[in-house]
Amino acid sequence: MGEFDLIARHFTRAAPSGSAVVLGVGDDGALLQPTPGHQLVISSDMLVEGRHFFPGADPERLGHKALAVNLSDLAAMGARPIGFTLALALPEADDTWLAGFAKGLFALADACACPLVGGDTTRGPLNLCITVFGEVLPGRALRRDAALPGDDLWLSGRTGEARLALALRRGEAWARGDLASVAERMDRPTPRLALGQALAGIDGVHAALDVSDGLLGDLGHILRASGVGADVFVDALPVAPALRGLDERHRLDCMVAGGDDYELLFSASTASAPHIDRIGTELGLNVTRIGRLVPAEGLRLIDATGQSRLAQPLGFDHFGSH
Ligand code: ADP
Ligand code: MG
Repeated sequence: MGEFDLIARHFTRAAPSGSAVVLGVGDDGALLQPTPGHQLVISSDMLVEGRHFFPGADPERLGHKALAVNLSDLAAMGARPIGFTLALALPEADDTWLAGFAKGLFALADACACPLVGGDTTRGPLNLCITVFGEVLPGRALRRDAALPGDDLWLSGRTGEARLALALRRGEAWARGDLASVAERMDRPTPRLALGQALAGIDGVHAALDVSDGLLGDLGHILRASGVGADVFVDALPVAPALRGLDERHRLDCMVAGGDDYELLFSASTASAPHIDRIGTELGLNVTRIGRLVPAEGLRLIDATGQSRLAQPLGFDHFGSH
């Protein structure tokens, strides 16, 4: 199977009517027509075998995850997706693998109304790079540098299950629990697109990001970009049932430093709390107030007794020691 057959067979589909796609896969470039008056939001994420997923990982799940982590970035900007490109390095043109990958990829693309509009295909060590395009009204994007002291800090869903799944797969000694109950959280993250877009429509919602490298480490990005500090109420953090069997230290470590969560962490004025609660209810998604932003820089963890300690941002660092 040549490159063109491969693209024709697995990655060429008619763009849905009413989409922003004027011209998709097949020409030298794609043509997109964003909604007039909107800004483009562009984000890329690469998944490398052995680094971001285990060799031999299920191709359908990979297709889902490669797109999901990109759509999560659009969600964190408050953007609506309008299309994506796929740059693929493959060790071989394995039809069964490609069919599974395309199945997972397009299932999520269809569900999120985000068509594939182009890409590149080459031979090489397995590497998946997606670029997503989205749109947002001017002034409405949820930026990391827009948080204000006094804002409440909110988290969607809950964190830590993907980290437990990783530990169970790796056989880390402290890890206990049922892999089946947490594997989906690692393999099939749900980009919080509806939440991000709804939040972008509320005046009092200021900054947001998606938690991909660990809650506290990622929070540090907002704090640095906005020049504020934070008090995080550790006992307010939502605890996934699957984490209850862990000792306290590892449970907290999963929740605040785990990674691969793809939940939204955002800041909002106290006055917007009822709106945020309403959005959470409408979407059937828990949103929890987990802290508050303060003028003084630094990150403090505060427990239910009011005890505080300074926290080191711990999040997973690709060039760090672990
Ligand atoms: P060119 O040589 O002009 O860059 P290519 O031969 O790389 O074109 O690709 C031909 C067409 O197929 C282009 O429209 C490109 O966007 C598309 N394409 C290539 N690889 C992929 C892929 N993995 N997924 C979707 N479209 C792809
Ligand atoms: Mg090319």
